[in-house]
Amino acid sequence: TGGSNGNLESCFKIPEIKFTKLFINGEFVNSISGKTFESIDSRTEEVIANISEGDKEDVDLAVQVARQAFDNGPWPRLPGSERRNIMLKFADLIDENLEEIAALDTLDAANLYSFGKAVQIHSGAELIRYYAGAADKVHGETLKMSRDLHGYTLVEPIGVVGHIIPWNFPTQMFVMKVGPALAAGCTMVVKPAEQTPLSALYFAYLAKQAGVPDGVINVVTGFGPTVGAAISSHMDIDMVSFTGSTVTGHKVMEAAATSNLKVVSLELGGKSPFIVFNDADVDTIAPLALTACLFNQGQICVAGSRLFVQEEIYDKFLNKLLEEVAKWVVGDPFDPNVHQGPQIDKKQYDKVLSYIEHGKREGATLLTGGKPLDRKGYYIEPTIFTDVTDDMTIAEDEIFGPVMSVMKFKSIEEVIKRANKTKYGLAAGIMTNDMNIANTVSRSLKAGTIWINCYFAFDNDLAVGGYKSSGFGKDMGMDAFHKYFQIKSIATPIYNSPW
Ligand code: ADP
Repeated sequence: TGGSNGNLESCFKIPEIKFTKLFINGEFVNSISGKTFESIDSRTEEVIANISEGDKEDVDLAVQVARQAFDNGPWPRLPGSERRNIMLKFADLIDENLEEIAALDTLDAANLYSFGKAVQIHSGAELIRYYAGAADKVHGETLKMSRDLHGYTLVEPIGVVGHIIPWNFPTQMFVMKVGPALAAGCTMVVKPAEQTPLSALYFAYLAKQAGVPDGVINVVTGFGPTVGAAISSHMDIDMVSFTGSTVTGHKVMEAAATSNLKVVSLELGGKSPFIVFNDADVDTIAPLALTACLFNQGQICVAGSRLFVQEEIYDKFLNKLLEEVAKWVVGDPFDPNVHQGPQIDKKQYDKVLSYIEHGKREGATLLTGGKPLDRKGYYIEPTIFTDVTDDMTIAEDEIFGPVMSVMKFKSIEEVIKRANKTKYGLAAGIMTNDMNIANTVSRSLKAGTIWINCYFAFDNDLAVGGYKSSGFGKDMGMDAFHKYFQIKSIATPIYNSPW
């Protein structure tokens, strides 16, 4: 740990902040109240920009506009191939501005700049292209029914969608939600997290340049209890698609239930097991285990935060883990040599440190880390606890920080039981070359995504989403596309049918 502080400015350009206002009906506008809030750089604790603070009235306005664009506007009525073309242009514009967008996400979310530039932003453009390709492949079914009826289903876009998204990967979250909804012909109100509004506003601008009609994508920046709650409880929104904590997911669903019963899709927290069996190759799997837990400062819903290691290789694995963590560099996320940047904000930083205290108090062994870095910004050392038992707070709660809990296990049956002993069910990793073990364990785990001998193996075509309190409804893949549609069944009597 420590991080280099060399001549960073040669590696990147701090982007100019061009967009700080709400985006409604194709225009950047001040919030009705005129209030603003500060977006903070988690590296320096300094203000990046003052952002317009939306509230309920701004949501009302955005919904009105989105409703009009859905009920009377061209977007849902265009041939799918035209929506496709506009989305392809949008994706090209994302690629053309890739470095600037990556820099915005590093400033705002402390995502690693090198990763943003090499992978993340282009992957976002690719996801838009994936859904663009689906826009002209929407069809229902013709039904030959049991009586003299002619039946068919019509697949209609669901309507006005509210997207409420978190701060951990601003670009990925935006395209994951907006991509399929756009392709389906929906119109939408997007609420980025208050910590990370910058790239969402930039995307709204690019979408307009690409030809997305006014009113189709609206972005209302602001806070959860105001803007987020106004979206979830709005009477004229047809669906809310949410990614965030389980606690907030409960609130969103409750607001949907007590308002207009809008369709709800929730991608929530996790406490995913990363399971290493005796036959695993320690030299390759130990660094993977570390990345699975620490990537993006541990702020990733599918983080492999519970590491189960089978007893025969336990000591060897732990030694290798220690060797790897010694090479793990914490520092400025713009620095290409850095693996881990600061936590997103003071609240999360304090929360993670308090979990570390819980771990110590409840009797886990602190193997390494456990302290904040002695510098400005919300930096925390990569932290590994051993001797963790299943009922400790650090084994049960989603910490959303660079904190790994290591547990030893003996048998397959035992680890299946313990891995499933959580209210969450988002993802899991299984490290073994034994096909029988891999098959048995992957079928026994209650988790939406299982990675065998890999981790974070995302793909446009691979849906992610939870079991149990990790939520329901998928993101990515065609499953996420289908959730933005409504199926209408139509039947009519048919006479003298020849067959
Ligand atoms: P965190 O606690 O990590 O910030 P949240 O789940 O609260 O995670 O945040 C995810 C998103 O949900 C953010 O955009 C946030 O503003 C929003 N949000 C927070 N509270 C509410 C709420 N009561 N209703 C709707 N959205 C909310």
